[in-house]
Amino acid sequence: MSDNVRDTVILGTGCAGLTAAIYAARANLKPLIIEGHEPGGQLSITTLVENFPGWPEGIQGPQLIENMKLQAARFGAEFRMGHVSAANLSKRPLELKVGSETIHTRTLIIASGASARWLGLPSEQALIGHGVSSCATCDGFFFSGKEIAVVGGGDSAMEEALFLTRFATKVTLLHRREQFRASKIMLERAMAHPQIEFRANTKVEEVLGVEQKEVLGLRLSDTVTGTESVLPISGLFLGIGHIPNASMFEGQIDLDQDGYIKTTDYVFTRVPGVFACGDVQDRRYRQAITAAGSGCMAALEVEKYLEEHGR
Ligand code: NAP
Repeated sequence: MSDNVRDTVILGTGCAGLTAAIYAARANLKPLIIEGHEPGGQLSITTLVENFPGWPEGIQGPQLIENMKLQAARFGAEFRMGHVSAANLSKRPLELKVGSETIHTRTLIIASGASARWLGLPSEQALIGHGVSSCATCDGFFFSGKEIAVVGGGDSAMEEALFLTRFATKVTLLHRREQFRASKIMLERAMAHPQIEFRANTKVEEVLGVEQKEVLGLRLSDTVTGTESVLPISGLFLGIGHIPNASMFEGQIDLDQDGYIKTTDYVFTRVPGVFACGDVQDRRYRQAITAAGSGCMAALEVEKYLEEHGR
């Protein structure tokens, strides 16, 4: 079996996974990178990234990801599409089930990121793909000349709202509280935009149009007064954060109450040889550059682990 045992497998092709891949490949570890159902992670569904060092004019998220992938491939990283359905981290080598295949590896870097959060309303779920979306860059084009709404009070919501003004005639930004989490610069940009209207203290109770299979409006409630109202719109975009993709490791490594992987010394899980980096373990910074930094750390720790424990 030893011939088939990988030195390292990396789960995820976002900023963290690809940076780990570049470092591991340059260390001649021939990493296998498993690309899941959201290849490229959050950056692949974003637009202009203005805060990644080295790009004075900014760079499009998908381009940044593509560059990293090419960089990792140049040094011998191997990419495979797949979904890890089960893992046995108590075995040596570690065992991963990917589709019908079982992969054995000495070390594992979990960089599986986080997926978009939904409101969880039955009407919202019924209309996903029929006017409800969590990806402005993917679906914004379909709303040319229409009025739409964005939910959320963080940077994602501001970015989505600003992006969607390219297509929609009006964007109503709905946030459940008075205070916004968004950074000052993003919030000010969105607030200053003539096509964006802010409605704070507002909760979405129902998406209207389930029978017609298209979004016709929203039933809203004021979180302070309880007053209900209807907002006629053709599209609803969610920008309300993300859920970490770590449930397949539940019980084998430590997760916090929201499902983020708990790490010590930045990237160590409680299982020797298993490291976690990027949005799947970072609930505080969640930036492309911090994800990249932790991916680098995880790959360096893999190198050290293999040196100490033998390849
Ligand atoms: P976030 O900062 O966690 O904000 C999520 C927002 O959604 C919050 O305002 C939250 O409301 C709201 N929310 C959560 N669950 C909700 C629910 N069930 N119903 C209604 N509203 C709900 O997430 P994010 O905006 O995705 O940002 C994540 C990180 O990425 C941040 O560090 C951010 O700076 C970064 N980011 C940066 C950029 C950029 O710089 N260009 C772009 C995007 C993201 P409450 O405030 O009431 O909790």
